[in-house]
Amino acid sequence: MLDQATIDELRSRVIPDQHNFIDNQFVNNPATKRLDVDSPIDGRVFTSICDSSNEDVDSAVLAARGAFNRGDWSTCAPAYRKKILLKWAKLIEQHALEIAVLGVRDNGTDINTALKGEPLGAANTLRYYAEAADKLYGEIAPTSDTVLGLIHREPVGVVGLIIPWNFPLMIAAWKLGPALAAGNCVVLKPAESASLTLLRIAELAAQAGMPAGVLNVVTGLGPSCGEAIALHMDIDVLAFTGSGPVGRRLLEYSARSNLKRVYLELGGKSPNIIFADAANLDRVAKETAASIFRNSGQVCVAASRVIVENSIKAELCEKVLSYARSYRVGDPLSLSHNVGAIANHAQLRVIEEKVQLGISEGATLALGGKRILSDCGGYYFPPTVFLDVEPSMSIATEEVFGPVLAIIGFDTMNEAIEIANSTQYGLSSVVWTANLATAHTMIKSIKAGVVQVNCFSGADLTVPLGGVKQSGNGSDKSLHGFDKYINVKTAWISLDPN
Ligand code: NAD
Repeated sequence: MLDQATIDELRSRVIPDQHNFIDNQFVNNPATKRLDVDSPIDGRVFTSICDSSNEDVDSAVLAARGAFNRGDWSTCAPAYRKKILLKWAKLIEQHALEIAVLGVRDNGTDINTALKGEPLGAANTLRYYAEAADKLYGEIAPTSDTVLGLIHREPVGVVGLIIPWNFPLMIAAWKLGPALAAGNCVVLKPAESASLTLLRIAELAAQAGMPAGVLNVVTGLGPSCGEAIALHMDIDVLAFTGSGPVGRRLLEYSARSNLKRVYLELGGKSPNIIFADAANLDRVAKETAASIFRNSGQVCVAASRVIVENSIKAELCEKVLSYARSYRVGDPLSLSHNVGAIANHAQLRVIEEKVQLGISEGATLALGGKRILSDCGGYYFPPTVFLDVEPSMSIATEEVFGPVLAIIGFDTMNEAIEIANSTQYGLSSVVWTANLATAHTMIKSIKAGVVQVNCFSGADLTVPLGGVKQSGNGSDKSLHGFDKYINVKTAWISLDPN
């Protein structure tokens, strides 16, 4: 049970200037430039991180390559990797509240959500992949008796990870878990506005006994530090979560460098399709509000487009608005709030601009729409609802990545499918119906990596999360999460004595 006094003690801690974590130590390179870190809670600077250069990235890659070639992680028994990863998960759990508060100061997620989703979620994910490490077998091919065809699974080598600012630990763990359990060595770049917790858990990995150079964290700006990673000639695989425009650049960087494999988990504009026969409209409205307003909509799978059958639209809108008004937005480290801040000032500006565009395109602003609590210096935006949205409006097609809901009506199932598929994205989707045939038709017709029927946020680690269309390729989570970080190698052995 969380108590305010402990949270307040943790939030008052002074955070010293932070340094890159390379070869199991924090490296204080006086030549490295610095970046101020301001808190979205009050806009005040509370520490600084490295603005890493090409040389800093080179040092991290050198450490990772050295560790990979040394082999004490990449060629050891998988059971050893499992042991270290389990110890790491335990240490993260033991420091969970301290880590969660640090993360909230950095990116503004409310403390309840942050604690569960970030350190505790990351520990759970690391444990899942640790347990799988010694259960992945190679294969023997079905050949004739005169040959032996063996299919080995090998770690790829040095993996670059570029992470966004929403749920940095959760998203990083989805990649670190399989990459490390498979025996790779990693260079990770967090987002510049959410680096602190990833530096902290790297330190805990070393305490857990992870060999030097296996996990390296370099901080800095995307166009310098991120670009240096993506262009690096000695990184074999790049896994990224973030925006579409940056994902596009990473593919170019790969083409311009060593053709490293690039996996992209990008944005979404997920449809939430509500049929008139949905059971319990009140529950649908409550989950509809939660699916877009929790963490201020800064969730990749946020269901930001409601597509609702016209016969129940008015009733549904009324209920959603009522739930939207019930959210308590404010200081994310106060237990009296259940929604915190927008993670950084740049994202606040993006949300403001996209809301203005919705208004100018003629959608009806029914709730919110303006920054709140600006007197405290923090970056807060209230639940915002647009009614009378046309499927072609930008508020219906472009990702906002904020607490902004667009509500669109439909009359027939075909119309609903057409609207649902009418964006460039294909990440997640939700369908509410009591009819099994309707549910199955929708599952087959919606172009998305995930279709959730009569629930939101039900999926756990056992199933993959990945997008289609311009929402990305490959997937995180589940045992499929290993695919990105493994090479299959064929050994073809003749058994013919002649
Ligand atoms: P972003 O693309 O701006 O930044 C993501 C990361 O890329 C950061 O670490 C950033 O520093 C780095 N970066 C920026 N420019 C770069 C460059 N030129 N070269 C290399 N690296 C660069 O994204 P964001 O604003 O941090 O995150 C929000 C986006 O992430 C949204 O679009 C959201 O939908 C998406 N997202 C997707 C998922 C998913 O699983 N599909 C999950 C969470 C977030």
